[in-house]
Amino acid sequence: MPTYDLVIKSGTVIDGLRTPRYKADIGIAGGKIVSIGRIDASDAAEVVDASGKIVAPGVVDLHTHYDSQVFWDPWCTMSGWHGVTSVVIGNCGFGFAPCKPEDRERAMLSLSRNEAVPMKTMQAGMPWDWVTFPEFLESVDRTPKGVNVMAFVPLAPLYAYVAGVDQTKANRVTDAELDEMCRLLIEGIEAGGCGWSAQIAGELGNVQLDFDGTPMVTDCMTDREVTAFARALGSVGRGTVQLTGSLDVSALIARESGRPIIWNALLADGALNQHGAGEYAHRDALKQLAYYNEEEGLRIYAQALTTNFVSEFTFEDYNLLDTIPCWKEALLGTVEEKQAKLADPERRKAMRANVDERGGLFGSGYVMNDIKVNWISSDAPNAQEIKDRYEGWTIGEIAAREHKHPIDAMLDIAVAGDLKVGFATQMIVTPPESMKEIATSPVALPGVSDGGAHTKFVTTARYPTELIAYWVREHEIMSLEEAHWRLSYYPAVAAGLKDRGYLREGAPADVVVYDYERLDSGPQERLWDYPGGEMRLVQKAVGYDRIIVNGRTTFIDGECTDATPGKLLRHGTD
Ligand SMILES: [Zn+2]
Repeated sequence: MPTYDLVIKSGTVIDGLRTPRYKADIGIAGGKIVSIGRIDASDAAEVVDASGKIVAPGVVDLHTHYDSQVFWDPWCTMSGWHGVTSVVIGNCGFGFAPCKPEDRERAMLSLSRNEAVPMKTMQAGMPWDWVTFPEFLESVDRTPKGVNVMAFVPLAPLYAYVAGVDQTKANRVTDAELDEMCRLLIEGIEAGGCGWSAQIAGELGNVQLDFDGTPMVTDCMTDREVTAFARALGSVGRGTVQLTGSLDVSALIARESGRPIIWNALLADGALNQHGAGEYAHRDALKQLAYYNEEEGLRIYAQALTTNFVSEFTFEDYNLLDTIPCWKEALLGTVEEKQAKLADPERRKAMRANVDERGGLFGSGYVMNDIKVNWISSDAPNAQEIKDRYEGWTIGEIAAREHKHPIDAMLDIAVAGDLKVGFATQMIVTPPESMKEIATSPVALPGVSDGGAHTKFVTTARYPTELIAYWVREHEIMSLEEAHWRLSYYPAVAAGLKDRGYLREGAPADVVVYDYERLDSGPQERLWDYPGGEMRLVQKAVGYDRIIVNGRTTFIDGECTDATPGKLLRHGTD
């Protein structure tokens, strides 16, 4: 028997604890790091020459929606491509357990809009061999995984299971129902859930709505409900709460539970995400976070958006305009219904007025005239004609050429192509000084990945690569040692992933080896690799020599090895 399964030789080690970098070999055996130092690798089963390369802990991605994708994509890509070795699912209160068999369709419908996971894909790709949350964890456990997976207990399915979605939306819940939900929550946490999650975003300005355009069942949670769930978690004495909502509600939960909170999201001024501009000016948010944490002694982490924002969309299934009433209304229903509504000149009045009022800004804040006709699905009617006349042109150019309002220029093309026309926005670049202020603030966790969500529109799951290759290498907003601490150890602490997120002897060997000068995200590309033949927008990565999960290599230079060494991480026991 060789002493080591794998030795990473002569790399520059950054351990994730902000220790200054040093040169060392890392010896791995039985899935663990057994030695860091100078290693005789003569009897190692495999040796990787890492000279000139960085050797760092695998990234811990706290904000993902791979709750369905994990069943057909063991590596949870894009995350698996970008150095992520552990993901947390069940965010924002959305998920699939518990769920009665007769409610499965409804649960998938919700996710098809709030997180824009294609319906056909979920129907084709999920085993649905569970009812309860502990059974869901069992299912994830026996599914081959190329990353480690930990799960929040999402609250929306609990409401659906105990009280019914529509009943709760109409009347909220009785004391008995609330007690039963808290009992099931505790059962889920005892089975390995890492806490609970919810989106409490109200009715207005909410971009993650239910399939019918109404708020999600958690969006209108009352303080009574919030307090009950917070106390239930407190009674278990472990776990974290992920909240997509306000800082004040985060503080309420922290006080009532005594547990840490991960708050979404901290956005730099001038930044955009799929939710549009930030709810708070970032210095106000930082002040409020400082008050709650430093004065009051709460633990509220902030999930910070650390990627520049750019998106692609077709009007077949776009939900990121849901904050604007005329758009929300037009983009509900079947594709045929949407097409009819978008062709209707009466409805376009409000859309034109909205763009005119906002000085030519579209949706979350993109400059309307800079949006480009990017691609046309080959099965669209008039595909060749649209391609020849419009592909690569901006809406501004087309509007000028055809003497139309930009809204009409865009929608005429979309409708002519049965909504199978892809548009691309320009990149919104966050000023580096603003990014530095949020990304290096005391409680900031880089992200927001949203891996597995909004799969046709955004590629923010590239955030680990962008933090290292763009914000650190190009803009020097923090040291590389600090970047790895924020990418791995700090999020592991926030979510209670014990023993992961840093390199030390005896710890599980979740490791990345990469070329600091070469590291980068690839271009946006469309892949038709989702179940049901659905497309997704992705960005791959270049410069990762090795991605290693529990001691086994999952990717070599971006090529998947087909290894599935990932584990279900049961909180409190692993
Ligand atoms: Zn989310």
